[in-house]
Amino acid sequence: MATNLFDNVFRDRLLKRRQAVLLTLNYLSAETKAVDRNCEWQSARAEEGRKRLLAVLRAGYEDELEKIEGALDRIGTEDYGRCRSCRKPIDRRRLRLVPAADLCCGCQKSQRRQDQARRERTRRSA
Ligand SMILES: [Zn+2]
Repeated sequence: MATNLFDNVFRDRLLKRRQAVLLTLNYLSAETKAVDRNCEWQSARAEEGRKRLLAVLRAGYEDELEKIEGALDRIGTEDYGRCRSCRKPIDRRRLRLVPAADLCCGCQKSQRRQDQARRERTRRSA
């Protein structure tokens, strides 16, 4: 019973966040079209900078949306609230802050370090 209550609270938060992310993605799409239509740029560099920023923002929100959808699929199953890497329960305080979390704090940190190392290797080889 207590688990269902938590699930409902987290589901509600995930649905609200998904709505906000979808609105933001719509806004970013409209902004991208506006940038494409704009022929008043002061420089090609300014235009490229804006396009790059919008693409980075879009990728970040698309990643978040994917995580939210994954969490909504897991909620109500034994996988929700369990780290997909080490399989230990994710701390409730972390879930309250990040209801879409699928990694515990320790695994999240080690994944972030690996991602950072990968990006640095890519940057050095480019
Ligand atoms: Zn873990």
